[in-house]
Amino acid sequence: MGILSIVATPIGNVGDLSMRAIEVLKRADVICAEDTRHTRPLLERVGAGGARLVAVHAHNERDKAPDIAALLEAGQKVCFVSDAGCPGISDPGGRIVEAVVALGHTVEVIPGPSALTAALMGAGVDIAKLAFLGFLPRKGKERERLVRHAIDVGLAVVVYEAANRTDELLEDLFAWCGPRRVVVARELTKLHETFHRGVLGGTLTPPLVDKGEVVVVVEGGDVVAHDTAPLDVTALANDASLSPKERARRLAQAQGISVREAYARLQQAQGKSDVAEVRRALSLAAEAAVALLSADDTARAARQGAADPSEAAGSDIPGADALLRLLARPSSLAAPVEAAEAARALLGAVSALDALLEAIDADADE
Ligand code: SAM
Repeated sequence: MGILSIVATPIGNVGDLSMRAIEVLKRADVICAEDTRHTRPLLERVGAGGARLVAVHAHNERDKAPDIAALLEAGQKVCFVSDAGCPGISDPGGRIVEAVVALGHTVEVIPGPSALTAALMGAGVDIAKLAFLGFLPRKGKERERLVRHAIDVGLAVVVYEAANRTDELLEDLFAWCGPRRVVVARELTKLHETFHRGVLGGTLTPPLVDKGEVVVVVEGGDVVAHDTAPLDVTALANDASLSPKERARRLAQAQGISVREAYARLQQAQGKSDVAEVRRALSLAAEAAVALLSADDTARAARQGAADPSEAAGSDIPGADALLRLLARPSSLAAPVEAAEAARALLGAVSALDALLEAIDADADE
């Protein structure tokens, strides 16, 4: 039985390839690489360019296992490397290890650089217990569910992302995690390595750059104080420059609540509770019903002689004149009785709703 060596390679700085990794790669007969064109220059640079290269990637990983097993059985020294960092960490490797072990072989690991550990080393926030989520799904409920579960149990969250998608990711993380400390580790081990530090919902220092690769670390534990002024909900609720949808979206994000809940809170801040809204609708409906009843009578009078139906109406009930004009039109003349019946039904509904409101009020008082 043979040994398959799983070898970590640099994530940006060639100097990070360990002495042990170089030795193992130099002695290898076959090196399985995620992308042979990518790996060849690295091997040549460290004097390990003698091995035969075989492409093993996410799409053929499992299928290649019998070939690798055959090489190991033939006594060949075989290594596996991914494009950068540790194989198996958001990279191919895991399936090949599983399959080769199942075929009776052994694996050894040659640990080394990984964006995950490098980001954690420089994060400087509470990462005592953490959830590494790799690349989050781009869309859908699972994206949110994964993060919320981890945060709910006090874990720090670590996520891989491309730099140009980081803003969107940070917005989502703020909506789900609230104002926690966050670190965006960019271009680790490279010339432009930068740790952007801040609080979710606030600003990051220095500002993010849209290029490169990043690891995002959100601290675990309790929510910390926000480093920006807290959101003034009343001011937001009354900010006429924003659409109601945008106001709700901002509040939802700031408070880590659903947009539906945000709508309700904004209404409350405007002094418009649901009950107040129902009351307003009720009084409008009652007014309309009374106007309909009155218009029905006055329409009859109008049809019986008045030249100008609005003179015949003389009603001080809001809306009655408009209804009267409507009912006095020839096309509406046929329906005065139905209008009166509709008005009575409407009044019935109004009093039923009123009773319901009384019950709600009584519940609230208890
Ligand atoms: N197996 C690799 C490891 O051990 O880190 C990760 C490979 S994964 C396909 C690539 C992702 O890792 C990138 O999108 C980025 O999130 C992160 N990454 C890789 N190199 C990085 C670097 N130098 N700086 C920051 N993040 C990096």
